[in-house]
Amino acid sequence: MADLRGGIDLGGTKIQTAIVDPGGEVVGEARHPTPTEGGPEDVAAAMATALREAAAAAGVETSALKGIGVGSPGDADEKTGVVSSARNLPGWEGSFPLGEKLQEALGTEVKIGNDVQVATEAEFHLGAGKEFESLIGVFWGTGVGGGLVLDGKPWLGRGAAGEIGHMVVKRGGAKCPCGRRGCLEAYAGRSAMEAEARRRHEDGEKTDLFKLMEKHEKPRLTSGIWERALDHGDKLTEHLIERAIEALGTGIASAVNLLDVEAVVIGGGLGTRLGQPYVTRIEQQMGPHLFVDARPPAVHLASLGDLGGAIGASLLITA
Ligand SMILES: [Zn+2]
Repeated sequence: MADLRGGIDLGGTKIQTAIVDPGGEVVGEARHPTPTEGGPEDVAAAMATALREAAAAAGVETSALKGIGVGSPGDADEKTGVVSSARNLPGWEGSFPLGEKLQEALGTEVKIGNDVQVATEAEFHLGAGKEFESLIGVFWGTGVGGGLVLDGKPWLGRGAAGEIGHMVVKRGGAKCPCGRRGCLEAYAGRSAMEAEARRRHEDGEKTDLFKLMEKHEKPRLTSGIWERALDHGDKLTEHLIERAIEALGTGIASAVNLLDVEAVVIGGGLGTRLGQPYVTRIEQQMGPHLFVDARPPAVHLASLGDLGGAIGASLLITA
C-alpha cells in the first residue's frame, strides 16, 4: 500500500475525492455534496469525511497516504496552504488555512493547488494531453476556466495565468459574472447562460429549461438539464449553446494565436457532459479565427472526466 496518494477536487457543488496509485490509477473514490451553509470549517470537515471514505474504499488509513493534494477554487496559495476569496463556497470571502486544517484531520502532508491548473496537469500527464508538450486546458462549466502547460511545464504567470474565460470575445458585449463586459464566460459560462435563459424566458420566449429543472428537482440549470433540453430539441437551449460554442471558438482560437500550443483539451461539467460532438463544433468555430490555419492544434475532449480534478490534485504530492 506504499506510495498511494489522495486527491480532493473541491467544487462549488461537489467534493470529489480519489486515492491514486503511482501509475495514476484510481483505487478508491468518494463524492459528497459541498456544504451550502456554514463556513470554511464545515467545508473542510466535509472534505475530510469524503477523503476518509475514499481511503476506506482503497483499504488504507489516511495517515498511511504519502500525502493529499487539493484542487481548490479561489486564490489558493501553494506555499502556505491558505485559500482566500473562494466566493462560490459558503462564508469563504476571507482567508482560511485549509492545508493546515486538513493535515490535522487526516494525519498526512496536504498540498493545495488551483483547481483548474491541477485538472489541466492531470490531462497533460495521464489524459488526453499526454502525447503533447504544450497545451491549453479549457474547463467549460459554471464558469470557463483555463490552465496552461508550456514546454512541459505549468505556466502560472504571477499566479493568475490561464483565465481564458475572461478573454474578451466582444468589446462592450454581454455582462460577465466578473463584472466586466464581453468576456468569453459571459456567453459560455453556465451561470451566465442560465441568467440569459431566465431573462429571455421572462420576456416571453418559450423554453422547457425551467420545467425540466423543476421536474428533476434541481436548484439550478445543471449540465444534465442543458443536455436534456438539447435532446428535446428546445430552441432557446440550442440557440444559447450555439452562442456559447461560437464564443468558445473565438476565445480559444485567440489564445492559440498567442501561444501556438500543440493541443487544446476541453473538459468541465458541460464539456464532459456534452462530449465529443460539441468539442468538434468548438473546433470548427475556432477555424476561421486561427491565424496559422494550415497547422491547427489538436482539439481533444478531456479523457479523465469527473475524476480529472481529484487525480490532478493527487499529482501535487511528488515522489
Ligand atoms: Zn469576465
